[in-house]
Amino acid sequence: EQRKQVLDFMTSAHQQFASVKEGANASYIPYLASVPSNLFGIAVAFTDGEVLEVGDTQYEFAIESISKVFTLAKVLEEIGKDEFKAKIGSNATGEPFNSVIALELHNEHPYNPFDNAGAIATVSLLNAQSSDDRWNQIISTYNLFAGRNLTVNDEVYKSESDTNAHNRGISWLLKNSGNMYTDPDQACDVYTRQCSVAITCRDLAIMGGTIANHGVNPVTKKQVVSRQNIQPILAEMMMNGLYENTGNWLYTTGLPGKSGVGGGILAIVPGTCALAVFSPPLDVHGNSVKGQKVGAFLSEKLGWSLLNK
Ligand code: GLN
Repeated sequence: EQRKQVLDFMTSAHQQFASVKEGANASYIPYLASVPSNLFGIAVAFTDGEVLEVGDTQYEFAIESISKVFTLAKVLEEIGKDEFKAKIGSNATGEPFNSVIALELHNEHPYNPFDNAGAIATVSLLNAQSSDDRWNQIISTYNLFAGRNLTVNDEVYKSESDTNAHNRGISWLLKNSGNMYTDPDQACDVYTRQCSVAITCRDLAIMGGTIANHGVNPVTKKQVVSRQNIQPILAEMMMNGLYENTGNWLYTTGLPGKSGVGGGILAIVPGTCALAVFSPPLDVHGNSVKGQKVGAFLSEKLGWSLLNK
């Protein structure tokens, strides 16, 4: 039946793209450079809770920027989409994810929640009593999306904390312009921790499956985000999920996606399923090379594109 067909295409994507040699692990975060480059997992979580897996789907990797999707969800729940759009935004910069020039060209106002400036400002928008409180709100949200208790990879966290001076600089520029809503170093530290959360490809599929399932975790059946906040989340993904390569991704998949420099990519097929791919080698914009190939292949084979209904 249909699920067998999906699994067959996942298997053939895995076989076909396993030998691709393009791309390189992220190296600006020392830990990420050390992850075996040949790891390759593909998982699909359907809205009825079934999860299909091929390859290295149980290996725990750093969520990195895919975390921005789930912190966005939490903040939308707290402050609503209108206030969010006014304070953070929903347009692309066309510049790299950690661009300072883009920020300077916009009166130091963030553009969207997926570039680092907007992501750190998003973390700062949570109404929290302390750094621990802010962190607990974030990790408990991720746990609801994943349907299990996730943990921080302390090695990643240390590696990133030792090398995140650029992000701390961005945080202070935001403070300068009145777009930072808590202590800048606290916001940057909690952001760094959220990027260091360890997930498997299977976890990522279920987290995305919750978005595909209108905010209800397809495995635990818990409502994690309200339905009215799904469109803003998917709009942000469609507009900037893969940074400067988002247009090319949309061109080939017709789907909202989100990448992380840990090698994860998530794609959402609203109402149907979520695709998660893990493969560390990245293109120059920070997106998994194999992840993009798998997304394009499966979307075409399985008719997932939203732009061809
Ligand atoms: N933690 C990384 C950073 O802030 C995340 C970047 C990414 O995954 N694109 O630089």
